[in-house]
Amino acid sequence: MPNELKLIPSYWASVSGGKDSLFMLNMLLNNPERYPLDGVVHFELEIDYPFIKNVVDFMAVKCAERGVKFVRIKPRKTWEELYNRYGFPTRRARWCNSKYKLDAAAQHEAYMKSIGYEVHSYIGFCADELNRIDRRKSDKEHYPLYDFGILEGDILKWARNVPEFNNFYKSHSRCGCMYCPMLSMMDAAYLYKYYPDNFNYMLSKMRQTEIVREMELGRPFSCYSSNPKYNANYLEHIVKTKWIYKLNAIEEMEV
Ligand code: SF4
Repeated sequence: MPNELKLIPSYWASVSGGKDSLFMLNMLLNNPERYPLDGVVHFELEIDYPFIKNVVDFMAVKCAERGVKFVRIKPRKTWEELYNRYGFPTRRARWCNSKYKLDAAAQHEAYMKSIGYEVHSYIGFCADELNRIDRRKSDKEHYPLYDFGILEGDILKWARNVPEFNNFYKSHSRCGCMYCPMLSMMDAAYLYKYYPDNFNYMLSKMRQTEIVREMELGRPFSCYSSNPKYNANYLEHIVKTKWIYKLNAIEEMEV
């Protein structure tokens, strides 16, 4: 298009509040000559763990100290609004990513474009996560941890003892959202132990969806497994009778 204005590159660190993003942000703030940084953006979800909100506040303070812009963007529809429309997300129908989480990123990109900028993102993928790097976008995506040869295991060792992470990385290597259809038993045990109100809320939402789907389908249904036997009631039982003890044992070993 001959009349199309050329967009100016604008460099942003995209931070989830998890271990890799905090490590990457420190690296960017300490290497401004190598990595230009116009701002830091966090896509804020109601289903982030509460400790993530604390980590993000900590990041915002660090950025303010260096005079770096920090913005938080929420999806235009709340998790509950989407839940009321689609039910609890399932492994096969994960609206939580496409209709919720990615909407915040789309808003950022659209706004920047409307004022003449093209977003270039710093993303916290490690040197041993080559499979996660999106080569189609690679001229607009940059991977400082990869550049420095930082391995995920190295960050994990560091993160286990960072108090802001609230013991999460003593039993986990990656952090997703609280109400995740891909959740593991260990995720559920962590939620039950540290955030019991959120655990109960998640189970209540799963149960409601399972009841509705069972009526629609005329057969049992589970939100987080293809085997309907492993439904919300099973999840609650197995977490309280087995996985909470496994989680406690792991945390005691890590002390
Ligand atoms: S981490 Fe889980 S809940 Fe969060 S967007 Fe991904 S699939 Fe959905």
